[in-house]
Amino acid sequence: MQVRVAASDPARAAVDVLVLPSFELDPKKWQLPARVARLDRALGGALAAAVRSGDFRGREGDALTVYPDGAIAARRVVLLGLGANSEAHPDTLRRAAGRAVGAARARRATSLAIAAPTLRRVRLAPGARALAEGAVLGDYRFDAYQEKPKEPSPPLATTTLLYERQADARSARAPADRGVAVAESQNFARELSNQPGNALPPAALARAAQRMARETGLRCRVLGVAELEKRKMGGILAVGGGSANTPRLVVLEHGRPPKGARKRPTIALVGKGVTFDSGGVSIKPSAGMDKMKHDMSGAAAVVGTLRACALLKLPLHVVGVVGAAENLPSGTAYRPGDLVRTAAGKTIEVLNTDAEGRVVLADALHFARSEFEPAAMIDLATLTGACIIALGGWCSGVMGDEDLVERIRKAGEATAERAWPLPLWEEHRKHVKSKVGDLKNTGGRDAGAITAGAFLSYFSEGTPWAHIDIAGTADTDKPGPYQPAGATGVGVRLLVDLLENWRKA
Ligand code: MN
Ligand code: ZN
Repeated sequence: MQVRVAASDPARAAVDVLVLPSFELDPKKWQLPARVARLDRALGGALAAAVRSGDFRGREGDALTVYPDGAIAARRVVLLGLGANSEAHPDTLRRAAGRAVGAARARRATSLAIAAPTLRRVRLAPGARALAEGAVLGDYRFDAYQEKPKEPSPPLATTTLLYERQADARSARAPADRGVAVAESQNFARELSNQPGNALPPAALARAAQRMARETGLRCRVLGVAELEKRKMGGILAVGGGSANTPRLVVLEHGRPPKGARKRPTIALVGKGVTFDSGGVSIKPSAGMDKMKHDMSGAAAVVGTLRACALLKLPLHVVGVVGAAENLPSGTAYRPGDLVRTAAGKTIEVLNTDAEGRVVLADALHFARSEFEPAAMIDLATLTGACIIALGGWCSGVMGDEDLVERIRKAGEATAERAWPLPLWEEHRKHVKSKVGDLKNTGGRDAGAITAGAFLSYFSEGTPWAHIDIAGTADTDKPGPYQPAGATGVGVRLLVDLLENWRKA
């Protein structure tokens, strides 16, 4: 789908569906926004009549369709509620655009126009970006495996954001384009995460990253088993050891300054890429195990973010490191009680083979740190069920360096990919020390999300680092206005926002 920006009178938009967003109406006046009221005159007052009848109040999600029958250029007009203007956030517009696209698709429309509303609390540029993001995110479906897609063609070809003034349309164009780039990158992450384990083993995840890198001009390096052995990455090799689909370490690089050029800050993003997690010998219960195809969502977010970095040409050196492995039980699988030596030299006592993500990340974090000496390092992982117990699906958990954690929290708030801080204290770090090795890979049920982070902290020592646990946010069975059921691609918007504002912080 293409997103366009235009300055034109909505009455002249010759589209299948024209969406007119409206804030919650004042019940004393029931007065439509001025721009909508003007268009309504051409419609003979149909919208005002609907409002007077009480059928439309402008609450978020309220929708009303009228058929102009030639009175204006559009074939259908959808009046769409945004809720209270005083509470608007860019996500209000993201959701509205998602709903607009949903309405257009449901009517088999090929063209959609949205009259960009003016908000009290959201400026034009972030508003345009959110509208573009919502449209592209809302258009995503995972249907590659259906002989006949459930939603019949034709697909929605264009969404046009309509502004009243030429100058506004001009200012909206660049942020809308950025929004498209970010949302398409998030859809790319969703698509990776939605792929089943049989379609996306570690080698295929690596190939997908390589293909994307070729298309966007990123550097990409893939380390296979021989290379992992040479580098003594006993963690990722142990986790991947039970599967015929051998592990990979994928390294993506954006914006490496050429020799002699001014140095740029290097930010490393590290992703857990367990392409399927059965739990291994400490096997999981069958119910819900299918969802473990999403256990590489941290990796998907990192790959998607690097894609966005390239498209947006961010003036930073951003490195993405993905530890990809499949966790299966077999005669060659690692076992409870095993002592595994990581590339960092520290040994891990394996108490539960289902706590495999941190074992993979131990090597991935060490690689990122020793290879690139980054100014900061952030990992994303569907790491613990404990994080879902603590925070549910409403936000990710974040812990580590306090300044970095606060910046991540703010970026999450700005992009509606919320991340909430959890403490990480010396006591937690002590708790994951092993009696027979250096560290143990589980600290038990108490504060399980935090002790997992505490474990990771040993592999980031000396580098400002934060860990984002996306176990509760990486996939959903509750569809939202711009989110179908399945992978969310969470992390891409948050990380892009964090990186775009890196120098300002
Ligand atoms: Mn696991
Ligand atoms: Zn896992």
